[in-house]
Amino acid sequence: MQQEIEHIHCLIIGSGPAGYTAAIYAARADMKPVVYTGIVPGGQLTQTTEVDNFPGYPQGITGPVMMEDLRVQAERFGTQVRFGYATKVDFSTDGGIHTVEIDGNKTVTADTVIIATGATAKWLGLPSEEKYNGFGVSACAVCDGFFFKGQDVAIVGAGDTAAEEATYLAKLCNKVHMLVRRDEFRASKAMVHRVLNTPNIEVHYNSETEEIVGDGQVVTGVKVKNNETNESKVLDVTGFFVAIGHKPNTELFNGILDMDETGYLITKPNATATNIPGVFACGDVQDNIYRQAITAAGTGCMAALEAERYLASKI
Ligand SMILES: Cc1cc2nc3c(=O)[nH]c(=O)nc-3n(C[C@H](O)[C@H](O)[C@H](O)COP(=O)(O)OP(=O)(O)OC[C@H]3O[C@@H](n4cnc5c(N)ncnc54)[C@H](O)[C@@H]3O)c2cc1C
Repeated sequence: MQQEIEHIHCLIIGSGPAGYTAAIYAARADMKPVVYTGIVPGGQLTQTTEVDNFPGYPQGITGPVMMEDLRVQAERFGTQVRFGYATKVDFSTDGGIHTVEIDGNKTVTADTVIIATGATAKWLGLPSEEKYNGFGVSACAVCDGFFFKGQDVAIVGAGDTAAEEATYLAKLCNKVHMLVRRDEFRASKAMVHRVLNTPNIEVHYNSETEEIVGDGQVVTGVKVKNNETNESKVLDVTGFFVAIGHKPNTELFNGILDMDETGYLITKPNATATNIPGVFACGDVQDNIYRQAITAAGTGCMAALEAERYLASKI
C-alpha cells in the first residue's frame, strides 16, 4: 500500500529560538505550522545554564527553562511540535510544493519551509573542556563574558571572531590571555592591530591548550604548551573561551540552497528568503555575525511573516 503523504502549510525545521519564534507567528497567522525539533529539542540554549541577556527575564533564566517557555508559547497557538530530523529535501524551484523526508522514513510536503537548523560551535575536543563547559568554559564571549567581570580569562583562536571576542572581553575583564596556535593570527590586519593595541590582552603565540584546570567545580586555570619549546605552563584564569569557529547545520541543503564559503545560508538582503521561492532561513544558520538568541528570534519572526505574505500572494 502506498504511504499517505501529509501536507503542511508551514513546515519549520529546527526548534531553537528561531524555529519556535517562527512557529508563534505562523500559528497566530493560522498557517498551522509543524515544527520538527531535530535531535536537540530547544536548540543550543538547552546546553547552557544562565541566559541573562534575553529581554523579558529581569532576573535571568536558565536556557532549558527559556526554551520550554518558547515551546509552550508556540503550542498555545496550535503549533504541532514533533520530534524528528529532516534527512532529505526536494525543493520545488518554481514556487510549487516542497518535499521533505523526516527520519529517513516519512515524507511530508509543504507550501512553505522555514529552515532554523542553527549552527554548532567548534570545540577543542578536550575532556576537561567538556567537564567544565558551563562552569567557566564557554564558546560565546558576548553571552558569558559578563560573568567574568574583573577577572582573568583566556581565549583560544586566531581568526576575526576570536580577535573581536578578545577585545570584547578586554573591556569587561581584568586580563585576557589570547592563545594563538601558530606564530601569527589568521584575523584581518585591522583586527590584529586592535588586539595588539589593547593593553590588557596578552597574546601567547605558538600556544596550544593541553588541559582546562579546575577544582572539580569551576575553572581555575589553563595548562598551555608552547609548541616550539615544548614547555608547559599554567595560566591562572577563571574563564576559558573557545573561539575557533562555528559550523552551520546546512549539509542537508548542499547544492540546493545558496551558501557562503563556510556553509552559512545566504538570504536576500534584509529578508529571510533563500534562492528558492517559499523557502526561508532564520537564526544562526544564516547569521555568522551576531549568533544570539534574540537575533535568532527576530529573524524567526521575519521568516514567518515573509512566509505568510508569500502564501497570501499565491491566492
Ligand atoms: C553554551 C552556549 C551558551 C549560549 N548563551 C547564550 C546567551 O546567554 N544569550 C544568547 O543570546 N545566546 C546564547 N547562545 C547563542 C544561542 O544559543 C544561539 O544564537 C541560538 O540558540 C540560535 O538559535 P537558532 O534557533 O538559530 O538555532 P539553535 O538554537 O542552534 O537550534 C537549532 C535547532 O535545529 C535543529 N536541527 C538541526 N538540524 C536539523 C534537522 N536536519 N532536522 C530537524 N531539526 C534540526 C536542532 O535540533 C535545534 O533544535 C549560546 C550558545 C551556546 C552554545
